[in-house]
Amino acid sequence: MIGAGIVGLAAAHSLLLAGNSVRIIEQSEPGTGQSTRTGGGIRLAHGSEINVRLTQLSLPTWLSFEQQFGIDPYYQETGHLFLSSKDGRGLATQADLLKSLGVHCDVLSNEEISLQWPELSSMNFSIGNYCKTGGYLDQHRVVKGFAQTVRAGGAHLELRTRVEEVLRDGDRITGVHTSEGSFTSETVVNAAGAHAGVISALAGLEIPFVSRRHELLILEQAARVPEGIPWLIDTDRQVHMRPDGSGRALLGGFLGYDDPDDPDDYDPALSERWSTAVREQASQSFRLSRPDSPVREGWAGLYPGTIDYLPVLEQSMPGLVTAAGFSGTGLMHAPIVGQIVADLICGRSIDGIDISSLQSSRFDNQPTVAELTGF
Ligand SMILES: Cc1cc2nc3c(=O)[nH]c(=O)nc-3n(C[C@H](O)[C@H](O)[C@H](O)COP(=O)(O)OP(=O)(O)OC[C@H]3O[C@@H](n4cnc5c(N)ncnc54)[C@H](O)[C@@H]3O)c2cc1C
Repeated sequence: MIGAGIVGLAAAHSLLLAGNSVRIIEQSEPGTGQSTRTGGGIRLAHGSEINVRLTQLSLPTWLSFEQQFGIDPYYQETGHLFLSSKDGRGLATQADLLKSLGVHCDVLSNEEISLQWPELSSMNFSIGNYCKTGGYLDQHRVVKGFAQTVRAGGAHLELRTRVEEVLRDGDRITGVHTSEGSFTSETVVNAAGAHAGVISALAGLEIPFVSRRHELLILEQAARVPEGIPWLIDTDRQVHMRPDGSGRALLGGFLGYDDPDDPDDYDPALSERWSTAVREQASQSFRLSRPDSPVREGWAGLYPGTIDYLPVLEQSMPGLVTAAGFSGTGLMHAPIVGQIVADLICGRSIDGIDISSLQSSRFDNQPTVAELTGF
């Protein structure tokens, strides 16, 4: 397993449960890639069937995480309210998709939103899609839960060890060469997050992975953002906000910026430009905080994606499985992705989901962007 992010750890967990021996090679420490830089978001409300299915199949693990992994993930159910001031066709399409997949989704007018959440009555959108299932958890605690469990289950963790070469015998991948020596394996799993493109290139594959830099910040308690409101997403202006306990709020959003960045050379610090712009936009969109609401902390990270924003999940060649490119959904999808990786390696059928659309061969043609409600 290359990478001890949430995807590599979840895959290791499922492989151990299936009776395999597992070695995880991680250049740093578990979770120090992108998995602990998230907003902790878990949601059923997506704009593509594959993403809805992946979260539906992962949700039971998140809801029973403490029983399975011995650590309370502090899951908070907020639900999600997707908002638009336009004619609402985009949100109507999302609502139809969600309903067809059995996901609760109420299409609400501005008046209905005000009636349900009087705290939101100053907002002025023409339509909102409210999906009550979903919320956020503490990503540090779930990484810790997975890491502890795979260690206890017998996985070998080679930390501070960097994969530098992928070994092959003819067409078959047979192991890796690292900064600490070589390891052979029946199967190598590329779960290297934002570095998945480097690993696939070492194996001689050309998969168009792209990492895009995104920022988050938390407003101080003084912002007094009410508890009990849903996670708010202004889909027109690409800004979102959720309560973060005791008056604090988490703010994020693309704000029209979605630039590729270099995983070895991106700035992980909150930028003043984005911090100013996102507080300004959130105050205009949601009317709960102010442009000068004080910032408690903020950070930047990479959405480890592909050119069409969907992941690659496949047996890429004999001896190599790829599970990477999850963009803004890698945390929420990790439990079922781990299970699918184990199924691929053990030659078992994959139940409940068709992952053929996640094969890298889709890039042989011009792929279309199927997921339009990412945030
Ligand atoms: C600001 C922000 C907010 C986000 N919010 C959410 C959210 O709310 N919900 C959600 O589901 N997702 C969210 N995401 C996306 C999520 O962070 C990723 O999809 C997810 O973390 C991907 O997990 P991973 O295990 O694939 O990658 P990572 O966690 O990055 O793990 C990959 C690991 O591979 C290791 N590695 C790489 N190359 C090598 C090598 N050569 N040798 C050895 N080890 C190597 C790295 O050190 C790293 O630890 C967010 C991302 C960002 C940046």
